[in-house]
Amino acid sequence: MIRVAGFLALLIALWSFSSGQQVHYDGYQVWRLTLEKPAQLEEIQSLVRDIWMVRGKTVDVCLSPEEQWALRKAGYTGEVLIKDVGALIRQQQTDFTPQDGNLFTRYLTLDEIYAAMRQLADQNPRLVQMFEIGRSIENRPIYALRLTKDPRRARVYRDRPQVVLNAMQHAREWITPPTLLYLAQRLISEYQTDMRVREYLDRLEIYLVPVVNPDGYVYTHTTQRLWRKNRRYNGRNAWGQPIYGVDLNRNWSYGWGGAGSSGNPSSDTYRGTAPFSEPETYYLSRWMLSLPLLRAHVDVHSYSQLILWPWGFTADLPPFNAVFERVGLAMQAAIFSVHGQNYAAGPIATTIYLASGGMTDWVFGVRGALSFTYELRDTGQYGFLLPPEQILPTCEEVYPAFLELFRWTLRRDWREE
Ligand SMILES: [Zn+2]
Repeated sequence: MIRVAGFLALLIALWSFSSGQQVHYDGYQVWRLTLEKPAQLEEIQSLVRDIWMVRGKTVDVCLSPEEQWALRKAGYTGEVLIKDVGALIRQQQTDFTPQDGNLFTRYLTLDEIYAAMRQLADQNPRLVQMFEIGRSIENRPIYALRLTKDPRRARVYRDRPQVVLNAMQHAREWITPPTLLYLAQRLISEYQTDMRVREYLDRLEIYLVPVVNPDGYVYTHTTQRLWRKNRRYNGRNAWGQPIYGVDLNRNWSYGWGGAGSSGNPSSDTYRGTAPFSEPETYYLSRWMLSLPLLRAHVDVHSYSQLILWPWGFTADLPPFNAVFERVGLAMQAAIFSVHGQNYAAGPIATTIYLASGGMTDWVFGVRGALSFTYELRDTGQYGFLLPPEQILPTCEEVYPAFLELFRWTLRRDWREE
């Protein structure tokens, strides 16, 4: 009987291997470790493949059974955040409520996100336009929504300051695209009734790019839920296995190649062979260079509940740090006012860690626009596997933070502060 069961298990393993099906996370756990000295981070990095979050002395890691054993052997004990990663993923894949026309009760596929964007544009031609920014490495379109009054009258308005909000550079951060879809929906539905919204759409150009990394996002649905990078083929490793993926948020040119990025193609923070080596960052940056009045930007990520600003590549404070702080704290208060969630605020390098080649540094450093990175819910209970019940509350609480940024963008040129 045992031999039969073993044979069956082998057959199943062979089948799933040959059909290239889903990567399983059975026996995986997420642990929170507390560093006693900074050098331990390097040791953890050598023992663990998938680091979810680093913040100060706190490190969250997703561990295979072997990695759990290796960490224990090296003397680490962690607080268990997720006891069974495989079970949680399966539960979230099967256990969703029907949609009922509400886009925010479960996580949408790429096609569903694009269909929702298309529908918004088709139904509201006087406020919304949809267009393609460029194509991913697997040739999927990267779409944007342009929200402004009478978008068809001018390719870009030369008297309307521009704001760009984008999400999903990192494939596993599923909570990020819905916040931009929600924003679009709500701006459109409140245009007639909310004086502020009307002013923002009349006087600003608001661009939303909900999925910067469509290949990675599809891959997290079909194959590997916790995939982070794009799907660039990087050649084979020493064992002959193929290596994929560049971390798009280490591939921007400003400060590219510095601390907090990796030159190892197998790393989750692999920066690529050159700045803008990836079509996703190349097209997005080229398009952003074409916007004459780009004033503000948010790159939306998860998780940790943070509002971050430059720099990532150095621990030095950026020019206009006081302005970043004022706007950052105003957004923080706006978020707190909705559901009482605390988001910490500060420069990237000193609030989380050094990270070079990030988008926020490029947008501020090259375009001089006020640029932020959000890290959405939660603070670690579920991490990237945020339950669908929290999609809507997360969208609701960041909505007024985006409005706060619009308000600031219109109020004055912050360089005069
Ligand atoms: Zn991210």
